[in-house]
Amino acid sequence: MLVDIVPVGDVPANIKRQASDGLRSVYDCEVNVHEPQSIPNGAYDSNRNQYGAEEFIKLASRVGDGEKNIAVTTKDLFYRRRNYVFGLAYLDGNGSVVSTYRLQTSSDGGFSNKDAGEIFGDRVRKEIVHEIGHTLGLEHCDNNRCVMNFSPTVREVDVKEQSLCGSCQRQVL
Ligand SMILES: [Zn+2]
Ligand SMILES: [Zn+2]
Repeated sequence: MLVDIVPVGDVPANIKRQASDGLRSVYDCEVNVHEPQSIPNGAYDSNRNQYGAEEFIKLASRVGDGEKNIAVTTKDLFYRRRNYVFGLAYLDGNGSVVSTYRLQTSSDGGFSNKDAGEIFGDRVRKEIVHEIGHTLGLEHCDNNRCVMNFSPTVREVDVKEQSLCGSCQRQVL
């Protein structure tokens, strides 16, 4: 399987590297980093001062060269009535998106001894692995250590591991 990471807007090199490393460590896949794309027209909502996640998914599906394609952006994303999303993917779809915007907020409250840079990197990897999991057909997992656990805030992101639990693994590998 080839996964194409599609940077949208200015995406720092360390984010692209975390995304690639996270995917390679969990899935049996090759990873390509696509050339940067500009923000899709119509994605920006001036009332919310946020960007619609679905526009990024469409862009990733359209330009991506992989069987699975994931847009990565530093912009703040929303989806329907949710105030924000860390990412979005359609079950079994070929496009998905992750935003790093809200992953930078706050430390992990002393949960680990890691510094802010490491914590941020871990969160990026987890959210990328999570969204690609959805495109492979995985739904949310009740195991709060599993990367497929639903994590609406960074608190839950910090608790979960970067990998799939045994049950999720058996469904995709
Ligand atoms: Zn999810
Ligand atoms: Zn699981």
